Amino acid sequence: MVLLAETDSPEATLAVGQQLAARLQPGDVVALYGDLGAGKTHLVKGICAAWGIPTEVVNSPTFTLVNVYDGRDFPVYHIDAYRLRHLDEFFELGYEDYFFGDGLCLIEWPERVEPLLPAHTQRLRLAHAGGTRRRIEEG
Ligand code: ADP
Ligand code: MG
Repeated sequence: MVLLAETDSPEATLAVGQQLAARLQPGDVVALYGDLGAGKTHLVKGICAAWGIPTEVVNSPTFTLVNVYDGRDFPVYHIDAYRLRHLDEFFELGYEDYFFGDGLCLIEWPERVEPLLPAHTQRLRLAHAGGTRRRIEEG
């Protein structure tokens, strides 16, 4: 595991996301692990901002499982599997369109669908590090 950054505010986590975006491209799948409040959604907001998607429209798709945002050059699929009960629901969603589609796929609570994650999945791990500190690791 490689330490990417330690942040001490939501804005700083957002900025890390914006930097990370530079090395992502359509077709990539990014799994964001971390407890509730670890900053997964803030990191997604930052990544999306790099492609002109307003921060306010990026929110966890808790009930729909997936939000699709119109990025400047390609769609961004934002999945949150927190409320997923059975993998069946993920099949019904047509997850292949997101994991093997034309857009960039960002997924919160990826452990819920771990067996379905493609081989090319990139893994980021966010953790509380006391107060407003958050550790962001890769691998
Ligand atoms: P998750 O999607 O992992 O549940 P969110 O990004 O939705 O996390 O929420 C993170 C929460 O923690 C927000 O309420 C945010 O204001 C707060 N917070 C405090 N410090 C940080 C930080 N360094 N990075 C990100 N969020 C932070
Ligand atoms: Mg979230």
